[in-house]
Amino acid sequence: MRAVILLSGGLDSCVSATLAKDRCKDLFALSFVYGQKHKKEMESARKIGRYLKVKEHKFITIDPNLFSTSSLVNKDLSIEERNVDEIGRGIPSTYVPARNTIFLCYALAFAESRDADFIYIGVNALDYSGYPDCRPEYIKAFQKVADLGTKRGVEGRRIRIETPLIHMGKKEIVELGVKIKAPLHLTWSCYRGGKKACGRCDSCLLRLKGFWEAGYRDPLDYEHYPDWYDLEKLKPLDF
Ligand SMILES: [Zn+2]
Repeated sequence: MRAVILLSGGLDSCVSATLAKDRCKDLFALSFVYGQKHKKEMESARKIGRYLKVKEHKFITIDPNLFSTSSLVNKDLSIEERNVDEIGRGIPSTYVPARNTIFLCYALAFAESRDADFIYIGVNALDYSGYPDCRPEYIKAFQKVADLGTKRGVEGRRIRIETPLIHMGKKEIVELGVKIKAPLHLTWSCYRGGKKACGRCDSCLLRLKGFWEAGYRDPLDYEHYPDWYDLEKLKPLDF
């Protein structure tokens, strides 16, 4: 079997892609450059693709002007900082307009042209940070688009959108990643692109909380650790 995997360079897409690797012989990776403020994510995506020995890895460039209201893209907007228990309330400034819809459309074309049976996307609804295009209802609706809008779908060989992490929290995702030996050391989650992860943005906080609750030490280096994260109490990971 074959799968298209969406690789953002982050933890979730890495675990989701490793699951695809366990199930499918051939993987086709897709990553998007859309004006992210730093290049770290794409470097991570490339490394993860190599590690998983993908057959092809396409990097698609999208005009960042499409997404100018997002603080992930627009250099004039700053990324807000919140406490970890405030995350998930309200749609944050990092929301990228219709991002997953655009990504999934590309993935669908790539999947059909490579005769892939699945598209793996690492969305999750619990820690979804308030993004509407990470919810199960949304994925279900896109599955319908895939079924109705492709030759494979019409001929009864539907391309399945696989969201193995959709009901998991970050703790479960870290635990699963450790269990299936996903290359977590190659991932990058921080919204900022420093030498080390910042340890303060939503994405760093959710990630650190996941590692903390799972009892493992995050293999990345951080500039700052929240006071509830105690390195000494966590098991180190080997890669
Ligand atoms: Zn960060």
